[in-house]
Amino acid sequence: MNHADHLCDFSDGGCSAARRRTKLRRNALPGSTMSGKLPWYHAGLRFGCRGCGNCCTGEPGYVWVVQSEIEQLAEMLSLDVDQFETLFVRNVGRRKSLIEMPNGDCVFLQRPSMRCKVYPARPLQCRTWPFWSSNLRTPEDWAKTAQRCPGTDHGRLYSLKEIDAALDQDR
Ligand code: SF4
Repeated sequence: MNHADHLCDFSDGGCSAARRRTKLRRNALPGSTMSGKLPWYHAGLRFGCRGCGNCCTGEPGYVWVVQSEIEQLAEMLSLDVDQFETLFVRNVGRRKSLIEMPNGDCVFLQRPSMRCKVYPARPLQCRTWPFWSSNLRTPEDWAKTAQRCPGTDHGRLYSLKEIDAALDQDR
């Protein structure tokens, strides 16, 4: 996925993928940020998407979308919002998620290229991967993330400020 439309350059918000993800949602800020101490990743962390697509497939998961994201996605696909929701969105309680294919692929993962069909309009959840609180809680959690995501610990060094910005967007 080092393709132009599937780059996970966090300067542009992060990876296009990152679905199952939601199972790993944060409940609170990780590390010791809230206590005033620097978190374990205070020196920054490296990330550079390798384009493998691992985070766009696999075990069932959710890609949460809010109304503004649905509207942007619909516009990108030249659909009206109702059409888009009928085709690509499911209700999960009071929230909404993109649907996924029977094999676990995100509905917008294109094989064999492994490109994201809606990369420019991808949801925030995808943009902030892998800098999720669930991945950052401990160094061990980050190491587990690296086992699934080969871009973790490679590529550009993201500063604490950038990581915190991603965490602030995590919802
Ligand atoms: S698993 Fe990691 S390296 Fe692979 S596409 Fe997703 S973010 Fe990129």
